[in-house]
Amino acid sequence: MSNSKYVYLDYNATTPMDPRVIEEISKHFKDTYGNASSLHTLGQRAHQVLENSREIIASLINAEKDDIFFTSSGTEADNLGIKGVAFKNKDRGNHIITSSIEHHAVENTCKELEKKGFNVTFLPVNNYGLIDLKELENAITDKTILITIMFANNEIGTIEPIKEIGEIAKNHDIIFHTDAVQAIGKIPIDVNEMNIDLLSASAHKLYGPKGSGMLYIRNKGKRKGWGKYIEPLMHGGGHEKKMRPSTEAIPLIAGFAKAVELAKEDLLKEMERQIKLRDKIIKSVTENIDDSYLNGHPTKRLPNNVNLGFKYIEGESILLSLDMEGIAASTGSACSSKSLESSHVLLAIGLKPEESHGSLRISFGRFTTEEEVDYFLEKLPPIIERLRKMSPLKKGVKYMFDNVSEANHHH
Ligand code: PLP
Repeated sequence: MSNSKYVYLDYNATTPMDPRVIEEISKHFKDTYGNASSLHTLGQRAHQVLENSREIIASLINAEKDDIFFTSSGTEADNLGIKGVAFKNKDRGNHIITSSIEHHAVENTCKELEKKGFNVTFLPVNNYGLIDLKELENAITDKTILITIMFANNEIGTIEPIKEIGEIAKNHDIIFHTDAVQAIGKIPIDVNEMNIDLLSASAHKLYGPKGSGMLYIRNKGKRKGWGKYIEPLMHGGGHEKKMRPSTEAIPLIAGFAKAVELAKEDLLKEMERQIKLRDKIIKSVTENIDDSYLNGHPTKRLPNNVNLGFKYIEGESILLSLDMEGIAASTGSACSSKSLESSHVLLAIGLKPEESHGSLRISFGRFTTEEEVDYFLEKLPPIIERLRKMSPLKKGVKYMFDNVSEANHHH
């Protein structure tokens, strides 16, 4: 780094842990080493921590404590939710509905199921990244067993109409799963009000540890009993009511719960603060830098996410130039950013491949100050200007970009 400052603007990839979470985890690594299944005092203490954690996490989404099942990650929760329902309900039907902008954890799980004889509908999205509720309803057949649609998108920040999707799923008696990895702790979620049956979350996106996640599994109504509509993927001991065996990672789970507790404490205040920062970035960049535009919805988006498009240059070069100024950003989702493939999300919202390469994701959070945002806003314009001067795609070579962003972004 050429600079003593380091401005981390990649919170959607992962967040730094809150120091209070680190403290909590360290305490449990030292003291709560008992196996939560052991009958002695140390075991029982671990069990107590486990159950308290479950309760805290449940309360953030208005769930019942016993409906929280700990996993090793958001990816594992997605796999358990989607494959678990598919395998258990294959006699009822083989059709799954999802969106075309899901995280790979959902997208590739669905594609794997296609190889095993399931039919998957990947619903298109509009230029903002929103699914169409009518198209969802039209896609439903008597073979549909699962709707899995993400709460909020990790790349473009768009928030899907989850309550309306839940309503449709409920009316058709179809199980509804949502990947809420990017939403939980950032915006309010109520699994009852939104008719969510299954919800995936991951601790490392909300200032908790990596390697800790959970799947919410509703246990109500006609489907009483979790095991009646979802099948475990692993078999072993009786942990997590046999839905997810293996000795519980108590320190990580306690850290996840601490992170949730902190998120709950100032959710609305932090939302408001981040929306101001978000809108400041959007306004400043789109007003001050020519041929730049916002990807995703202007308001139905995560408070901490801005995804920008810059014509005539490559996102990778912007990212590397920012890194030299001590600023960490992203060009797409963390997992796809090391490959040169276009982001499936940006293509799905109507960008051409060359446009998708000119995108930059800025995501921030609890520890981001306005000064840091200002530093970014000061450093970005000269970088764009310099890169455009060197760019072989520069202005005038219009054929690559003809009218696309006008058609897509200036509604
Ligand atoms: N789903 C979404 C929307 C994500 O952003 C991520 C994060 O990478 C995941 C799932 C995967 O979570 P994890 O890294 O805990 O496996």
